[in-house]
Amino acid sequence: MLTISLRFAADLAALLGPADARRAGAVRRVLPAATSVKDAIEALGVPHCEIGAVVAADGSTRALDDPVADGDRLSVAGIGRADPGRARFLCDRHLAALARLLRTLGFDTAWDPAWGPAELARRGLNEDRILLSGSRALLKRRLLGAAMLIRDDDPDAQVAAVIRRFGLAGRARPFARCPLCNGEVRPVPKADVAARIPPRTALWLDEYFLCTGCGQLYWEGTHVAALRERLAGILAAAGHGQ
Ligand SMILES: [Zn+2]
Repeated sequence: MLTISLRFAADLAALLGPADARRAGAVRRVLPAATSVKDAIEALGVPHCEIGAVVAADGSTRALDDPVADGDRLSVAGIGRADPGRARFLCDRHLAALARLLRTLGFDTAWDPAWGPAELARRGLNEDRILLSGSRALLKRRLLGAAMLIRDDDPDAQVAAVIRRFGLAGRARPFARCPLCNGEVRPVPKADVAARIPPRTALWLDEYFLCTGCGQLYWEGTHVAALRERLAGILAAAGHGQ
């Protein structure tokens, strides 16, 4: 057996179990010999994809596959912010509402209820997407790219947490993507879609938008004002503290 201590950056400390989080400062662990850095950290509830760097007391960096050594004092930092220009997302099957909201805010977000853990891991890597999941078990898989553990139950709080985490508050483009299919939504001349507009709507509205993916037709109906207000609330919550 060996004894190590782990000190977590503030954003990771929130992921620790209640007993460990209550302990201020370093968490001491007694572990079997031949435990990897990854396993030592994940045993405390922090998925490895949330880990940015592990630094030993002498300043050297440890890889996740390195074994821990008796007496190690390790500092663990989170992954921090992704390059906002590359912030493309992938939601697990339970996060449909989060996927729709991210799309509505203009963020490229893939989601399909048919995708299981292996498919999500494959797509995250191949398509360079940040995997969003509420499952710690899923995020502990090896061969996983960037990911974020979603801890809130409320979709508005979930999307605010994602935007805050990756510093995206200024990059939202409300209504730029189709919540149904993730396609880009573009203005379309009224005459081109006249046959699809309900006659009462056509009387008072001249601006229409078409999804380039699934062909869904959009216009600023009465419900949009409420949605616009909701999105503004999310962005305000996400921008708080930046
Ligand atoms: Zn669409």
